[in-house]
Amino acid sequence: MSFDSFGLAPEILRAIAEEGYTEPTPIQAQAIPVVLQGGDVMGAAQTGTGKTAGFTLPILQLLKPNQNASPSPARHPVRALILLPTRELALQVAESVATYGKHLQIRSTCVYGGVDIAPQLKIVRAGVEVLIATPGRLLDHIEQKSVNLGQVQMLVLDEADRMLDMGFMPDIKRIVALLPQKRQNLLFSATFSDEIKRLAGGILKNPQTIEVARRNQTADTVRQVAYAVAEDEKRNLLVHLVEEKKITQAIIFSNTKLGTARLARYLEQKGLKADAIHGDKSQGERIIALNKFKSGEIALLVATDVAARGLDIQEMPCVINYDLPHASEDYVHRIGRTGRAGAEGDAISLFAPDEEKYLIDIEKLIKKKIERVAAQGYEPGASEPAFRAGGHERRHGRFDRDHSSRQQKNKVQVDPWYLKPYEPTAAAPSAEPKAEAPQPSSTGTKKPAIAALLGGMARKPTAQ
Ligand code: AMP
Repeated sequence: MSFDSFGLAPEILRAIAEEGYTEPTPIQAQAIPVVLQGGDVMGAAQTGTGKTAGFTLPILQLLKPNQNASPSPARHPVRALILLPTRELALQVAESVATYGKHLQIRSTCVYGGVDIAPQLKIVRAGVEVLIATPGRLLDHIEQKSVNLGQVQMLVLDEADRMLDMGFMPDIKRIVALLPQKRQNLLFSATFSDEIKRLAGGILKNPQTIEVARRNQTADTVRQVAYAVAEDEKRNLLVHLVEEKKITQAIIFSNTKLGTARLARYLEQKGLKADAIHGDKSQGERIIALNKFKSGEIALLVATDVAARGLDIQEMPCVINYDLPHASEDYVHRIGRTGRAGAEGDAISLFAPDEEKYLIDIEKLIKKKIERVAAQGYEPGASEPAFRAGGHERRHGRFDRDHSSRQQKNKVQVDPWYLKPYEPTAAAPSAEPKAEAPQPSSTGTKKPAIAALLGGMARKPTAQ
């Protein structure tokens, strides 16, 4: 199937070709014809499926007859309203609208909170046909009378589940009440809880349900592996993996804002180019970090789930879970950053012994086994640096020395399982070592069982 078969305008087809897309993704193949015919859509689609173009392309096509170059704001009323939960997502969608509409004379802009409203006021007052907004800031604009929704023909609720999670339901209801009765509605959500169904029931009319991937499915093109590691060895292992695998671009997930900031600082201290984005950073700081990441100025972006939600970084090669998420669905969202639109990707998870339960929950949800791999010298109970493979301890000497003396002081009873010498797990490759499987050091040092006696296995994980 090609994009030509939808009957899209040549200006739109040109923009698609310039993006390098040759054929529609499954969600696009299903959604574009329905939207072009004016139907409502209830789309079960996650980020990474190409859903943005799935609704943006037909919206632009439907708005094309209204395009004009008049300077009068009255000739540019808001005709399509796209609501999203986060500023990052709003910016990404706005970028897509601008990209796909670059050969049309259709104005679009993006309004979101956390930044000065004045520049936004100027733009929206001048008139825009496509308004991409987060709900709270849109209501600010409505209050300031900079936006009138009286001529909206199309409403898109994107990432609806996350909007509800973030408490936007009352705002959405207020906004929907201001829209004309006669309009087209598109709702996209990764999950369909009863609450989402209720929301959809109140907004959509005879929607066509479009589902492209089974709920909570992870892309087959993503190689998923998990390293067992003692909690306080995680950051050393992370540095080791980044260096060993020559990772040039990865998003690293941490569960807490503090952990995110600390980890980014640690990586920087180790000479890696890293930055953090989390809820305590200003919008300006987050955008700067994201742009640096996109341009390759920084290689590692450490993020919390909320801050990373909706980041669209094309061809992201690698996602690392420094902490496993406690909600299994977040794992699916996280690793959805890689392997997009059929591309290959790596999803690497580090798990401390007390996090294994989360890994098992994730496997149940995605109905896939995640390959357990071991990095020699970093497994739980093997944190005595003298026995590490590859001379890694030299690079991290200070930290490791402090760490091991701490551990000796806190020596505790160790589960006999950890006293066994290292053996590759059944899941680890046997005949031909894969990239994930760490190679023995050049000296071939095998970790003696005694190393485990010094390990911090039974220690409580340090707070991140
Ligand atoms: P989305 O799910 O909308 O966030 O899109 C995921 C990624 O897929 C984005 O980076 C898009 O640029 C890309 N993409 C969207 N449609 C296509 C397509 N038909 N072919 C190749 N890549 C696409």
